[in-house]
Amino acid sequence: MLATCGQQASLRQSAFHGTRVVSSRHALPRRVATAHAHIVMAKQTVLVTGAGGRTGRLVFDKLRARPDQFVARGLVRTEESKAALGGGADVFVGDITAIDDAPLRAALRGCDALVIVTSATPRMKAPPAEGQRPEFEFPPGGLPERVDWYGQKAQIDAAKALGVRRVVVIGSRGGTDPANMLNRIGGNTNILVWKRMAEQYLVNSGLNYTIIRAGGLLDKEGGKRQLVIGADDEDLGVRSVPRADVAEMAVQALLCADAAGRSMDLVSREEGDGAPTTDFAPLFARARRGM
Ligand code: NAP
Repeated sequence: MLATCGQQASLRQSAFHGTRVVSSRHALPRRVATAHAHIVMAKQTVLVTGAGGRTGRLVFDKLRARPDQFVARGLVRTEESKAALGGGADVFVGDITAIDDAPLRAALRGCDALVIVTSATPRMKAPPAEGQRPEFEFPPGGLPERVDWYGQKAQIDAAKALGVRRVVVIGSRGGTDPANMLNRIGGNTNILVWKRMAEQYLVNSGLNYTIIRAGGLLDKEGGKRQLVIGADDEDLGVRSVPRADVAEMAVQALLCADAAGRSMDLVSREEGDGAPTTDFAPLFARARRGM
């Protein structure tokens, strides 16, 4: 029997990189041979970076809510963010752009998988005058080149060095168009260009990856909508998706063998338009192989 994402089983098929047994200090891995593949039963130890962020927090909480399947770790930037996540030993404090990557490595050591949810985040310069549009800027040290390129590259390098072979990235749609207006936030900061470069770096790294490029993020309840995938910013008729659904997609990617080596745009239909997605395996199976 092959486990699917929809079955929510604690099974993991090592189809992408042969028959690696997923190891964890917290569970003994057990390998089961079938006619087609080896299935690995094990808990996965997973680090979520950007775990104090709006989507990262949801991924972290979803992993923590499944202790039979995951040992969740989070990486945040400040002690305040750590306290907000409960302050336990499973929450590490570190800056992904720091020259000293010891905190990042400490968080990653012993992990089976990494979920990257860090991102440069623009902030409003000042409240706009009446009738004017707000202006945005990136905080000092927080430019996309630094966070989304250098910082993401540092995470990929650290994962590779430490033998963490599975990496899921939550990124953004829009990266195929250099003229996308998001690239002009705070000047020519090219956030989507740097994100795309980091994704290419991951693909070239030889690690086992899944790249989820979300549409406009909504702070709405998850599990209520039909999810839609696409590639390369194709017109999907809808443009947004709840953060909670993106987070669930990232968790399902860790459970679904077919998610490995794939990238996808992710949006959702309006609530009530179509059946809410419950089985994620077909979505991953339809996603593009490669970038
Ligand atoms: P977010 O709330 O802005 O969170 C980003 C996280 O990255 C924060 O927790 C932040 O830490 C962390 N971070 C930034 N720089 C860091 C550094 N140097 N070291 C360690 N951590 C660092 O993210 P989001 O809005 O949920 O978005 C998640 C992803 O979806 C991003 O890749 C985003 O580009 C993408 N996306 C967003 C939209 C949208 O509509 N906003 C649309 C499509 C895709 P702190 O908490 O300390 O600041």
